Amino acid sequence: MADVPSNAPAHCPGTASDDAGKVSACQGCPNQALCASGASKAPDPAIQEIKEKMTSVKHKILILSGKGGVGKSTFSTHLAHGLASNDTMQVALLDVDMCGPSIPKMMGVEGEQVHQSGSGWSPVYVEENLGVMSVGFLLSSLDDAVIWRGPKKNGLIKQFLRDVDWGEVDYLIVDTPPGTSDEHLSIVQYLSATQVDGAVIITTPQEVSLQDVRKEINFCKKVKLPIIGVVENMSGFVCPKCQHESQIFPPTTGGATKMCKDLNIPFLGKVPLDPRIGKSCDEGKSFLTEFPDSSASIAYRDIVCRIQEHCVTRSSEVEKTA
Ligand code: SF4
Repeated sequence: MADVPSNAPAHCPGTASDDAGKVSACQGCPNQALCASGASKAPDPAIQEIKEKMTSVKHKILILSGKGGVGKSTFSTHLAHGLASNDTMQVALLDVDMCGPSIPKMMGVEGEQVHQSGSGWSPVYVEENLGVMSVGFLLSSLDDAVIWRGPKKNGLIKQFLRDVDWGEVDYLIVDTPPGTSDEHLSIVQYLSATQVDGAVIITTPQEVSLQDVRKEINFCKKVKLPIIGVVENMSGFVCPKCQHESQIFPPTTGGATKMCKDLNIPFLGKVPLDPRIGKSCDEGKSFLTEFPDSSASIAYRDIVCRIQEHCVTRSSEVEKTA
């Protein structure tokens, strides 16, 4: 994975690249002499600092989606609420979607400010056992467009992972932007010295979404990121009045269940569409608390249990081999 310093020009090939300091993009860059000498290929010291920081975080889960609009952030918030419903668990939700940070609104903490103390940035707490950090807290206005270049994004991700004072945490959930971009590569690189439990990939049943999920799965394989499993979101619509179920996004190629079977990866479950989910998110409330008996809440809780089981099993396997 290429590392891009914050003072590098837009098309920096990355200091770890064989082209570092040698290609046209490097002309005029203040780091050119250093990069051309090869000295810049040394590993980023932040990786070791992040490793030390993450010793207080038991489980780390990345939430990915092949494309936008499939309910990735909605799933991240429900996973956070679901895990935090056990008040013996300490849960952290980190939103690294630099261009569309929606977690503060969904968690009911929009407009909050991040405080800096001697031990780092303090997360914003939704509940005593549920802390949130998002680029959304750093914007001066809610309507600010976040147009950041790669180096600045990478620098902020590094700061989020290294400088947030999470304290002792059982689960850190990282809500990433859609697709596979610089942000994903940065997160994987910066967490490379820690044990990441794996990625949960969110999709809808349509082939157009599954196509992108296959790319996401390839990305995970390439960067050796374990896949916890796939969640099929917007899987049928259950009318809250008559409970009749209809298919809004028909699974023309068999949906996520078939894809997971074909690719031999775990399928974590289906979450039906429910208009009350969007309303709860807009109001910053937990749908799981507001409508605990709904089909979607039951599905979410099942999936949260499966993810927890995966993390606990993986930890004990890692301990055995250590
Ligand atoms: S000289 Fe180094 S930092 Fe500057 S653009 Fe080239 S590779 Fe990037």
